[in-house]
Amino acid sequence: MMHNTILIVDDTAANISILANILKDEYDIAVTTSGADALKVVKQQHIDLILLDVMMPQMDGFEVCRRLKNDEMTKNIPIIFVTALNSIDDEVKGLELGAVDFITKPFAPIIIKKRVETHIKLHEYYTQLDELSRLDGLTNIPNRREYDNIIKQEFKRAQRSGLSLTLLMMDIDYFKRYNDTYGHGMGDECLKKVAAVFADVVKRTGDMVARYGGEEFIIILPHTDTKGASRIADEILNEVRALNIPHEQSLVANMVTLSIGIAATIPSQSDNYHSLEKKADEALYHAKESGRNRWCIDEEDCE
Ligand code: GH3
Ligand code: MG
Ligand code: MG
Repeated sequence: MMHNTILIVDDTAANISILANILKDEYDIAVTTSGADALKVVKQQHIDLILLDVMMPQMDGFEVCRRLKNDEMTKNIPIIFVTALNSIDDEVKGLELGAVDFITKPFAPIIIKKRVETHIKLHEYYTQLDELSRLDGLTNIPNRREYDNIIKQEFKRAQRSGLSLTLLMMDIDYFKRYNDTYGHGMGDECLKKVAAVFADVVKRTGDMVARYGGEEFIIILPHTDTKGASRIADEILNEVRALNIPHEQSLVANMVTLSIGIAATIPSQSDNYHSLEKKADEALYHAKESGRNRWCIDEEDCE
């Protein structure tokens, strides 16, 4: 069985062993005796919750908390302060820094158990909901909302770096006819299979594929020019043909195919990503117009 891991941070070994004894039956325990080590441990292993002492030499618990909350990678780890400090001001400070709870000594072991249990559970719910809110319910790949977040970030990144950013916009050919012929349920199955191909082809870190809407999908390829993108597009066309999903009523093939519009840019400071989307959409339109089951970069360049 998978256990959650609790990190106990306290400069006094006796305090660590008291807490560890309370929790060791239900959780895996990691320990550090300094704030600096705590900041290292969270980078090295997965930590589900932190019990954090406040008064420690060098870096105190408040500072550790501040740093963890300022780091994208660690900001969601729930932190519970466990401290001899018992003033309202200290407690308010801890909570304002983003801790989920503040337990003052002396404490009853059962209180530690129960509060840890509660916050572990809440964090699990949060993580599940957060994940679900980013995924498309049918195909299980990132949804439009997630795409919108990522494209904004990637566009800004490309503006800073001066590197090429490419979009692939994909649309299944004659999909209305597919639904009309085989039914909406089969249509859904088809979308799932095609989405799985995209997810399989787009593997490099930083690349992403999302369901853009209906039977349209979009791929973000950072640091990629049109040459690299057209290779990916070829691969996608081939892999979708290889699925060999029968489509009797398609006017381009006897199987499900799709069309791809490719657009690349090295964005200037005044650009925004909507113009890149528009270019990809125009290229997609051109791919449809010039026969479907192909990719196009612009009006001249189709394959
Ligand atoms: P084209 O080759 O020009 O792209 O033609 P098309 O028929 O694919 O394009 P159109 O935009 O006319 O039709 C898209 C169809 O996709 C219509 C809609 O019912 C279907 N569709 C959109 N979302 C879903 C979905 O979630 N499930 C299913 N089964 N069908 C969907
Ligand atoms: Mg469409
Ligand atoms: Mg279509």
